[in-house]
Amino acid sequence: MNQRLPRLIATALGALGLIGMLGVIAGSPAQAQSYPNKPVRFIIPFPPGGTTDIVGRVVADRIGQFLGQPLVIENRGGGGGSIGAEAVARANPDGYIIGMATVSTMGTNPATSRSIGYDPLRDFLPITNLAAVPNVLAVHPGVPAKNMAEFLALLRAQPGKLSYATSGTGGIAHMIGELFKATTGTDLVHVPYRGSGPAINDVLGGQVPVLFDNLPSSLQYIQAGRMRALAVATPKRLESLPSVPTFAELGLKDVNDEAWYGLVAPARTPADAIQKLHAAAVKALALPDVIERLQQQGAQPIGNTPEEFGRQIKAEYDKWVRVVKQQNIHLD
Ligand code: GLU
Repeated sequence: MNQRLPRLIATALGALGLIGMLGVIAGSPAQAQSYPNKPVRFIIPFPPGGTTDIVGRVVADRIGQFLGQPLVIENRGGGGGSIGAEAVARANPDGYIIGMATVSTMGTNPATSRSIGYDPLRDFLPITNLAAVPNVLAVHPGVPAKNMAEFLALLRAQPGKLSYATSGTGGIAHMIGELFKATTGTDLVHVPYRGSGPAINDVLGGQVPVLFDNLPSSLQYIQAGRMRALAVATPKRLESLPSVPTFAELGLKDVNDEAWYGLVAPARTPADAIQKLHAAAVKALALPDVIERLQQQGAQPIGNTPEEFGRQIKAEYDKWVRVVKQQNIHLD
């Protein structure tokens, strides 16, 4: 008996080992299915106060609830959004990092700058486009122009004298500013900031008289009379600003582009994670309070498929490559 004991123990241990191994093999798919099992980092590539941050914060909590793990917001501003976008592009594609993508980070920045450290079409996987957003041209109330005709007259009377603030060089606001100059034959000096938050501060303070911006970040100041909106870039007039004409109505069709804000993950993020992130985002965008909060800010919820969002990103990038060539815009 005594001699057989070690053999019995060895056999039992062997069996346990086998069970353990089977457990490990069986455990791999189970682990993948358990995504997400820790919080997901959410990179917002602009500082607080701008539309990227506003839209991101409206949806982040609710996406986290549907996902079963919180989205932890990190504001990584700088480079017109390209620093935060590059951080997402280079991150470990494990499903635990996503970022806000904007028309600037995916379209206008890469189209205007050769030194951007990522490829908008290859380095990301689209999740969903969250919202479409009008753009706006606004002035400090001290500017003696009550409407576009008076503003154009003022610019023509003093070419190159007024300056305009934007969320950064190469961003959508800068592009719209340059297209505005080209189509009206006027001259304004560009003053880039790290994001709309700091740009708006200086316009409110009167340091810079003119602002090109995405509407959500500016709307509350326009409604409070602290800035005067002269035109909005959107297909039709907005309920929130009924007396402000669209650029298209004023004959400036080329300046009538909207902006958008969506979610992307690094390329090679597992399909299961993309699918779960997409499902959570679409559910969040269907909630009445989320829809209401976005609409109050002047944003329209979207929530399309990853494939649709991918096509939209490509179309936007191609379009800005074309515009930059046509307008001969060189930024570096
Ligand atoms: N204009 C920027 C963009 O469309 C957003 C600015 C900001 O969020 O501060 O990407």
